[in-house]
Amino acid sequence: MVVEIISVGTEILMGNIVNTNAQYLAKRLAHLGFDCHFQTVVGDNPARIKSALDVAYTRADAVIMTGGLGPTKDDLTKEMLIEYFGKRPVVDEQVLNFLEERSRARGFAKLSDGMKKQAVVPADSLILYNHHGTAPGCVMEHDGKVCILLPGPPHEMQPMFEECCELYLNGRRDKILVSIIIKCISKFDAPVSIVGESPVADRLAELLDGVNPTVATYAKEDGCIVRVTAAAQTHDDALKILQPVVDMCRARIGEEYIRYVKEDID
Ligand code: ATP
Ligand code: MG
Repeated sequence: MVVEIISVGTEILMGNIVNTNAQYLAKRLAHLGFDCHFQTVVGDNPARIKSALDVAYTRADAVIMTGGLGPTKDDLTKEMLIEYFGKRPVVDEQVLNFLEERSRARGFAKLSDGMKKQAVVPADSLILYNHHGTAPGCVMEHDGKVCILLPGPPHEMQPMFEECCELYLNGRRDKILVSIIIKCISKFDAPVSIVGESPVADRLAELLDGVNPTVATYAKEDGCIVRVTAAAQTHDDALKILQPVVDMCRARIGEEYIRYVKEDID
């Protein structure tokens, strides 16, 4: 399944906030083994959100959207998606009760219309309850397309993704990705020649063209990293694919230039 990330929010477009949600999701998706080829940022504008979705679904099966689920007028992602997928809007009693209780506890006699709209969810969808805020997320499926809506605030979005979405996505994936990192020593520790990204890449040569596993080099301040990544059904199968290529990389770089080799579990 190919997944795309659409971050909704004029604040992001204007440069007022940094899109850490896309960074977080991209990293989690890579670890879960999903291909994510594009990320989009779009303002709080229904026509442009629709256009971003139209484009995304020409090249992806699933879209994860963050932002615009809250109580204010500019929070219109959910309403927009309900219309886009032709779903029926229904009130989720669990969310409504929670919002009413919360509002009473805060001394308000009546739930505001803005708060109330957060209890409206698409029918026939998986509702993701928000344990760290008020707006629920959801997973909508329509005609083989999937859209996962998540709240904007990172402290609400991240636990919702880890507690609910990963379970859902795990059921939909057909492979996992496992990476081994070979950390080379820095130019401060070694006598010139090999250290630095390009001499390492020269030694790896055609190994960098591999498909499964892939081998890639990354320049870092404290020494270059070689990442070897395999896709397989199970972790053990991935390690079996990785091992011979990791051994070849080590031999070509030279053990004296390697600081450590470890699985990337970050
Ligand atoms: P709320 O109920 O707080 O309105 P929401 O789901 O409607 O949540 P937004 O209104 O789009 O989300 O954003 C609320 C706040 O969440 C932003 O002001 C910002 O602090 C944070 N936020 C939103 N999107 C992102 C993002 N892509 N990366 C990092 N932070 C974000
Ligand atoms: Mg909002």
